[in-house]
Amino acid sequence: MLKKRTKVLDLTFETTITEERICKEISRIAAEMNRDLADKNPIFLGILNGAFMFASDLFKQITFPCQITFLKLASYEGTQTSGTVKQLIGINQDLKDRTVVILEDIVDTGITLDTIIRQLSGYQPKEIMVATMLHKPDALQKEVKLDYVGFEIPNEFVLGYGLDYNGYARNLPEIYTLVKD
Ligand code: 5GP
Repeated sequence: MLKKRTKVLDLTFETTITEERICKEISRIAAEMNRDLADKNPIFLGILNGAFMFASDLFKQITFPCQITFLKLASYEGTQTSGTVKQLIGINQDLKDRTVVILEDIVDTGITLDTIIRQLSGYQPKEIMVATMLHKPDALQKEVKLDYVGFEIPNEFVLGYGLDYNGYARNLPEIYTLVKD
């Protein structure tokens, strides 16, 4: 593969996963979901900001009745706890007894996903499933069950296809990895 390079702010990145490979994996995941979830009337929960592109491309290939909504994790300084508390915001639907499918851009340490799952459990869904575009198995610190994974990647910083560096480069249609000089 001829690697494309791009400079984003002060850092240089090069392509490691092409648009074509991404499309292929999304079609594979969609086919698996169309087989597994067709009679579950699931609600997809896209986690903003990073998962918007994955959610959009995947959702177009889903053929059964389902809903989608988008959630965000807001950080704020807790008044009672020390450090930063992350709260899931944007849940307007009734999730009780529903099959919920979380759509994530990347699972790195798994801490974010673990936080999301804990908070969602409070809404008493029937089951919580997880689909992530990318997964860094070597970085994982929490035990999280991933039902659908696009790519397992090395423990290196990536961007593109919804993922950013300081808010930039989410628009790139392929995945780029940081070039270490
Ligand atoms: P975790 O809590 O699993 O460590 O990290 C999850 C979040 O960290 C992701 O949703 C994403 O926003 C961010 N993240 C983790 N690894 C990367 C990476 O390699 N590149 C970018 N752009 N964001 C990452």
